[in-house]
Amino acid sequence: MKTFSVGAVGERFADVPCPVCGSRRRRARFRGKGCRFVSCRDCALVYQNPQPLFDDLKGRYGQAYFQYEIANEANFYRLMELGLADVDFAGRTALLPPDRRFLDVGCATGRLLEAMRERGWQVRGVDLCPESAAYAGKHRGVEVFTGTLEQARFPAASFQAVHFSHLVEHVPSPRALLAEVRRVLLPAGLAVVTTPNVDGLQARLFRGGWRSAIADHLTLFSVRTLRRLLEDCGFEVLAVQTWGGLAQGTAPAWLKGPVDRWAKRRGHGDVVLMLGRR
Ligand SMILES: [Zn+2]
Repeated sequence: MKTFSVGAVGERFADVPCPVCGSRRRRARFRGKGCRFVSCRDCALVYQNPQPLFDDLKGRYGQAYFQYEIANEANFYRLMELGLADVDFAGRTALLPPDRRFLDVGCATGRLLEAMRERGWQVRGVDLCPESAAYAGKHRGVEVFTGTLEQARFPAASFQAVHFSHLVEHVPSPRALLAEVRRVLLPAGLAVVTTPNVDGLQARLFRGGWRSAIADHLTLFSVRTLRRLLEDCGFEVLAVQTWGGLAQGTAPAWLKGPVDRWAKRRGHGDVVLMLGRR
């Protein structure tokens, strides 16, 4: 599976401080395709610098992005369900009242929302891509706001759970996103975050050629930096999982199985999922 990126044609770039700790002390880390990643000398966060302006970035999430989401819908959905099962989301939320509310930010075509609704949740979605939001409404009957979470202006304490898979690495201010997630969550509400793991085996092997070292990813988290962001933003981290050792097709099955299990056990999987409680 190829990670999608439109690239950065005609976009304006700006020098930015570390999106997690605000420091400007940094060193070059690696170059991706059309982008440069640095690591913060103070908190070790890996982020793009210079970074495209968000107003320019938004143009990347159009028709082509929608086609990518549709083409990969079944696979992405399967991975999200595996992640939720890994942190026992169903077990942890089993005793919630019947009017429980679930928000998926970056919900794409609404496949997960449809499944959660079948499990008795009231669901809402947010997505920047107008085509995806329209598709989710028309084909899944789920209500999706087109824009950013901040623009959706949900009332405070609206949801028992906020899920965002492969979103936090795309936004210019992960802190602002997490603050808004916290605001719209009820007390003790759950945040489910999934993002590529820059401390994973694949990132270490491939560096700038890693499939997640792309222009659309403004920040690349590790278990450590993602945990810091969640804790800084007022979450208690309840569970951490990483998974995916060797990419499909890069190693024979006899090697991939054991390496994947090792990576998961040691926290060097390609993707990290963190469950936080408000
Ligand atoms: Zn930093």
